[in-house]
Amino acid sequence: MTKFQDWTKEEAKRTFLFDRWGNGYFDVNPEGNLCVHPHKKAGKGIDLNEVIKEMKDQNIALPAVIRFQDVLRSRVVEINETFKNVIKDANYPGDFIGVYPIKVNQMREVVEEITDAGRPYNFGLEAGSKAELMSVLAYNRNPEALTILNGYKDRDYLKLALLGRRVGRKVLVVIEKMTELERLLDLSEEYGVRPLIGLRTKLSIKCAGKWADSGGERAKFGLTTTELIKSIRILEKRNYLDCAKLLHFHLGSQITDIRNVKDAISEGSRVYAKLVKMGLPLEYLDVGGGLGVDYDGTRSTNQSSINYGNKEYASDVVWGIKQICEEESVPCPNIVTESGRAITAHHSCVITKVIGTIKTAQTDFDTAKSLDEHILVSNMRDVVSELKKDNFNEMYNDAKKIKEDSISAFKLGVIDLEEKAKIETLYWQVTEKIGAMVDKVEFPSDDLNHLQDSLTSQYLCNFSVFQSAADSWAIGQLLPIMPINRLNEKPTNWCSIADITCDSDGKIDKFVDLEEQAKNIPLHELKPDEDYHVGLFLTGAYQDVMGDMHNLFGRLNEVHVYKDGDEGEFYIEEVIPGGKIKDVLSTMQYSPEFLSYRVKRIVDQEIAKGNIRPREGVKWVDFYDSCLDEYTYLKT
Ligand SMILES: *Cc1c(COP(=O)(O)O)cnc(C)c1O
Repeated sequence: MTKFQDWTKEEAKRTFLFDRWGNGYFDVNPEGNLCVHPHKKAGKGIDLNEVIKEMKDQNIALPAVIRFQDVLRSRVVEINETFKNVIKDANYPGDFIGVYPIKVNQMREVVEEITDAGRPYNFGLEAGSKAELMSVLAYNRNPEALTILNGYKDRDYLKLALLGRRVGRKVLVVIEKMTELERLLDLSEEYGVRPLIGLRTKLSIKCAGKWADSGGERAKFGLTTTELIKSIRILEKRNYLDCAKLLHFHLGSQITDIRNVKDAISEGSRVYAKLVKMGLPLEYLDVGGGLGVDYDGTRSTNQSSINYGNKEYASDVVWGIKQICEEESVPCPNIVTESGRAITAHHSCVITKVIGTIKTAQTDFDTAKSLDEHILVSNMRDVVSELKKDNFNEMYNDAKKIKEDSISAFKLGVIDLEEKAKIETLYWQVTEKIGAMVDKVEFPSDDLNHLQDSLTSQYLCNFSVFQSAADSWAIGQLLPIMPINRLNEKPTNWCSIADITCDSDGKIDKFVDLEEQAKNIPLHELKPDEDYHVGLFLTGAYQDVMGDMHNLFGRLNEVHVYKDGDEGEFYIEEVIPGGKIKDVLSTMQYSPEFLSYRVKRIVDQEIAKGNIRPREGVKWVDFYDSCLDEYTYLKT
């Protein structure tokens, strides 16, 4: 194994920024492999390359999701400890009691790990739909932990909440709409169960970022000021005032600017204080989710970044609430947060193998002069030979013009395919030469930037953006991407990433960069006899569970890795097989048995016609059947 030589670890950091977005969980070892440090401690981390080797030994195919359950635990502990410490420092008279909103990643193993790690903190769960509530009721078994219910609610949803109350759980129904309140009270009377009620308020502030519409007056959820007052009247009239325990607001996900948190806390605490003064016996103030993740490592207000840390967030929440409650002379509430993204994002990644490159600039076609070649070919050849450092701008313009003319000439039948291929090859030779020169020019023009982009390759990776990085496609979310091995060698190929779906959108061409979003990342030249793996990181929040079935690529194989000692040892505790072809077909209403029957019939007909020998026919049918049991991704 080569050690770092012409390329240092510092350069690897500067190129891929894993020390910035990695939040202490990632590092590169002397062998040049990316390592995971589940407890952020120095020493040996878990070498991702070793994990992949182990998977290979166990016949688990890539692409795969790798979950580091210890990272998940570490996130839960970190967020709880941060709040606890701030509360202590601030002499805050209430508690912190968080919940994890399972919509962010509903995987059973994720929820189990979070509730287990959160037990000492009475960390609870939040549900936003009936199905989520069904699982939360079964999995949130700590009677001290909260279960918070958001989202729109029908009778069954509310009745399930009452079931939770009947079995002694602290289930808080957050009223998003006035009609839910009357419905809840009706059911409570019908079943003789006193509910715990939360009221969700719409704050006037809207925060910047992709999720701005979760806040503000036009937000989909929450009660307006007049509705809050009406709710109090209803509760009073129907004798349920004592059940109102919580005030809730949620600004939106991935709050990029800490100032928005401060503003929301002032407004929300003020509403809390006023409601208490109006006689509501509130005990909890739930400030929702939104604690962000620094996906691009810039620590800025970029949409994929945040300009604050956990500590600052917790301080602003705790001190902000304290100050206003003291001003208003009301008791300080227990503080609830519903952070999801910040808990789950770091713990999982998607590892895929690069299976090839797609290169536009092809320069290896024979362009030797033929006897009666068209003048356009000769002209382009002249550009190649005359190209120098001091005339490249002019030569580039000439080359572009000749290429354009050649397209017209081809359409008119003036040049043939062979000549067209020669012109294109020579053109790419020109651009490559210029590409190598402009590195040294201080201010390349837009034209030349464009030229450099056109020279980059696409690395084709065995995965689907739509399944594994939905937000990258849907909302331009940045996810860190980097190779997991050869990080002690300088990567020399600038490229973007293409997936294997038949969709031109199935690509990633936005990458983390300290300056501005980069369109390309440097990756290593592929070696014919060595696998090259690229990882998509911080995929644990939303991406893991939002993937779609585009092209019928289903869920990925998945392994759960646990740390086993401090010397980088690990073990794979659980393997969850990804979608087989028959599974994804079934979800689209096809019956695999019927498909198999159909294909057999078609083959039989050909056998009957004498076009296929019976022995061969059986083999084709067996082959078809065996493919139904295969993984949907490419076998590589
Ligand atoms: C989505 C959501 C959350 C989670 O937000 P994060 O940004 O992932 O922390 C919390 N509360 C509510 C009401 C939500 O809708």
